[in-house]
Amino acid sequence: MYLNQNDKKTVGRRLLKFFLPMIMVTLFLSGCASGGEKKPKSMPAPDPNVSPIPSPLPTITAAPASEKTETDTEDTETSVDDQEASDPKEADKTYVVVLDPGHGGNWFGAMYDGKNEKDLTLSVANYVRDYLYDNYTGIEVYLTRETDIALDGDLKIELEKRAIVAEEKNADYFVSIHFNASEEHLLHGATVYASMRDDVTERSKGIAASILKELVALGLKDNDVKTRMSQDYFAEDGSRLDYYAVIRHSAIRHIPGVIVEHCFMDNEIDKEFMNTDEKLHALAEADARGIANYLGLASKN
Ligand SMILES: [Zn+2]
Repeated sequence: MYLNQNDKKTVGRRLLKFFLPMIMVTLFLSGCASGGEKKPKSMPAPDPNVSPIPSPLPTITAAPASEKTETDTEDTETSVDDQEASDPKEADKTYVVVLDPGHGGNWFGAMYDGKNEKDLTLSVANYVRDYLYDNYTGIEVYLTRETDIALDGDLKIELEKRAIVAEEKNADYFVSIHFNASEEHLLHGATVYASMRDDVTERSKGIAASILKELVALGLKDNDVKTRMSQDYFAEDGSRLDYYAVIRHSAIRHIPGVIVEHCFMDNEIDKEFMNTDEKLHALAEADARGIANYLGLASKN
């Protein structure tokens, strides 16, 4: 059928009259289907823990949006009371600890003063392993990466792969090593994030508190052991999972995981704790002592 211009307009108007209400209803329903979630007016503060910078371009910033910060906006970060209890030491048990040097390869992490977080985390992880082997028995230590590599080009997969390494090594604990940064460069101190999932939370908080105690003993400000609940990720029973990907993926595998944010790379006070190799060693030794104390490892000396 051939239609002239006027016919086309008339048909167009009729079609519009007919379809407009349907379009409106569809738009309304799709809004409901998303759970009525409102997008934030502004993005939340970046999360250095889970959000490596996805490009090698040096930028003076904390790491940008993570895999889920677009919707995971509600800040449910919670400080927890110190848990002094230690892991009940089983006779002759050799604990397996997987250390996770945060970021790597094209995931640079935070970058300040010519330093990349990915390099600092790898140095510290190596020092932690060396210190544990040199000073304690009853422990096996593995790293999720030994060199400057990313475990995957896709950040979501990359973060899960770190927990998969822990699972493959039959890890008793997973310790992810990071350095922090903040937008205003004013924050300083050490924070250790733990899991809030029932089956691992006690051990996760326990080893977190033990590590934090040693870091604070170096003079770093005590920013508490914290847990943070996801608004987006749920278990099959509908309960909420952990916010931070490596802790979440570890907990799913029943491995207590923690993220150690040693100090803030962009803060003048904290730079004094990390600006030489000796100071990075001191941070690593604090981590190692925290791990060893919590696990009740026998000293070699
Ligand atoms: Zn980091």
